Amino acid sequence: MFQSKLFYKAKKEFPKDEESINAKYLIRAGFIEKLSSGVYEFLPLGFRVLEKITDLVRKEMLSLNAQELLLPALHPKENWLATQRWEKFDALFKLKSRTGSEYALGPTHEEIIFPLVKEMISSYKDLPLALFQIQTKFRDELRAKAGLLRGREFLMKDLYSFHKTNEEVEKFKEKVDRAYLRIFKVLGLKVYKTFASGGTFSKYSTEFQVPTEFGEDEILICSNCKVAWNKEIKSDRICNFCKEILTDHKAIEVGNTFNLGDSFSKSFDLKFKDKDGKEKYVFAGCYGLGISRLMGAIVEVFHDDRGIIWPEKVAPFTFHILILKKKVNLSEVESIVKIIEKLKKDYLLDERNISFGQKLVESDLIGIPYRLVLSERLKNMIEFKERKSEKVKLLKISELFKFLKEKLKIK
Ligand code: ATP
Ligand code: MG
Repeated sequence: MFQSKLFYKAKKEFPKDEESINAKYLIRAGFIEKLSSGVYEFLPLGFRVLEKITDLVRKEMLSLNAQELLLPALHPKENWLATQRWEKFDALFKLKSRTGSEYALGPTHEEIIFPLVKEMISSYKDLPLALFQIQTKFRDELRAKAGLLRGREFLMKDLYSFHKTNEEVEKFKEKVDRAYLRIFKVLGLKVYKTFASGGTFSKYSTEFQVPTEFGEDEILICSNCKVAWNKEIKSDRICNFCKEILTDHKAIEVGNTFNLGDSFSKSFDLKFKDKDGKEKYVFAGCYGLGISRLMGAIVEVFHDDRGIIWPEKVAPFTFHILILKKKVNLSEVESIVKIIEKLKKDYLLDERNISFGQKLVESDLIGIPYRLVLSERLKNMIEFKERKSEKVKLLKISELFKFLKEKLKIK
């Protein structure tokens, strides 16, 4: 991608009307724009990051044999009356059609997926079943001041699983927990599996919390067992497993896994005929992961005073090629592009006619993990630098392919 063609504009200063690090950096670096409080536009750079996170999450969901679908955002009032959440869900956006019908804008999809599954299943042979979507959610959040961390419109992956017994839900939930941890590992994000109050159906629900200074949740971490408890539930400060003293941290909840028992099945009369011929309620679980919140959390954790430092797997591009030359040698640029294509990676090529200093400043701001610089000063050598490090390495073009292949651990 040529940077001169990219729909993007870096700003000289941080936006004045944003408090959070993620919104400040993402807006200044041209990833997002704010439309109104808690509502953001994803520009091409930002959309690429969202897509890469989405791909990663989708791959893990498919590995659980979950099937992807897409449900509406516009929900009939009746569905929300059936669970009494039309009144009880504080953040529900409600709207009225000119025909008089009332709707909710979906903040979550239990009210839609349970009636749908009821249409499709009847026997124990139809279970277990797992369905997920990656879809826009709406919530009338009161405090929408944390950028992508708390949107009024945001992107979520929501997975729902349906089983014959509560034990099966618990087992599947553990599988989802492991899939989540794999996702966070790829991102290099330190995420704590956190015990939180579970409601009626299981002792705990599980939250996945990223410790950061500006998180809205408070958790207690066991540095020994590498697990945590949400402060709201825990009456002491001692680890249940190893008795170590727990430490206080602010954190961001990026995902959760929840055993719903048979509560929603009762609201929607979702039953199956078991082997013994008896009709029984279906047991279910729900598993949320905030895709856009995760993007914000990554920026909260991975940045310095010059800009964002994207983890490789979700960076908008893997390579940033900067041409700091008055006279461009096209065949040199072509050779580099060919090498990157051979490595099956993407790149942003800054061939704009602006000052070299500005190119370097914007490159740090955008935060692409690997930078290749062509400069008169370097003669025919190419400068390689990782965004996360201050070290530079000079390479001949003939050495570049082998070097990058090893650096990026490409087989
Ligand atoms: P919170 O306590 O932070 O409001 P929640 O308990 O309401 O979160 P869920 O309803 O379980 O969250 O939603 C699943 C996931 O969706 C959360 O783990 C989070 O990552 C994401 N999420 C929830 N609300 C928002 C929001 N307003 N903006 C962005 N992401 C959100
Ligand atoms: Mg909430």
